[in-house]
Amino acid sequence: MSDYLIKATAYDGMVRCYVAVTTNTVEEARKRQDTWPTASAALGRSLTITAIMGAMLKGDDSLTTTIAGDGALGQVVADANAKGEVRGFVNHPHVDFPLNEQGKLDVSRAVGQGVLSVVKDQGLKDYFTGQVPIVSGEISEDFTYYSANSEQIPSAVGAGVLVAPEDHVIAAGGFILQVMPGADEFVIEQLEKSIAALPQLSHFIEEGNDAEAILKQLIPEDSLQILERMPIQFNCTCSKERMLLAIKGLGAAEIESMIKEDQGAEVTCHFCNEVYNIEETELQALL
Ligand code: ZN
Repeated sequence: MSDYLIKATAYDGMVRCYVAVTTNTVEEARKRQDTWPTASAALGRSLTITAIMGAMLKGDDSLTTTIAGDGALGQVVADANAKGEVRGFVNHPHVDFPLNEQGKLDVSRAVGQGVLSVVKDQGLKDYFTGQVPIVSGEISEDFTYYSANSEQIPSAVGAGVLVAPEDHVIAAGGFILQVMPGADEFVIEQLEKSIAALPQLSHFIEEGNDAEAILKQLIPEDSLQILERMPIQFNCTCSKERMLLAIKGLGAAEIESMIKEDQGAEVTCHFCNEVYNIEETELQALL
């Protein structure tokens, strides 16, 4: 099954629903970043939620989420656009802790305390930034807190990643349910009940359930209207041209020292680990 996301509305438009299955996307990120299990879970949850937030954007808009905690991972960074493309990395991928008391990967310990920030790039320097403290480090709860405090649309956010003992990603996915202003108290109670009763998301996906099946666990089918289905994939927008532009931004003195000391440069993209070899002549052309 390829990764995809569905958009739906529920309860006569009082709730907007986004559900994604992201197993391949998260596995691609794990392979590229060589993340160990706890790091894979943290990065995977963040990639999933960021991809869903990206799907709420329009046109060429994009967003970047950064979870900057003081735990072993360092920063967890993800960015996504309205086309379903997402990429991300953690500063320290080789992080793996024993399972927590609930038998789950101890993401909270790997993230630590700090801040979650979201930057939306909506073209023409129209940046929107929101920032909240990390409340639990479990990532889904942190994004739930973010949505209530920075976006003014209360949302329930969930994401899960199942990692095999030999490290590969078996299943990943997540959801965001947005409660529109003026929604009935009854609807909010129904959502709270169904979220509390939701099976563990990553295991539910492992059993072969798709995004529609997850959605039906959250919302009764007769209250649901599915609007759109779109693919989600790991895709990095880096290129040699962009790398050269970044090097140019370092300034002439830095470029001259690269030429003198290394006769070129080797640049690695943080997001996808692609290595770009920059020739001496290409550096000279920047001066
Ligand atoms: Zn890249």
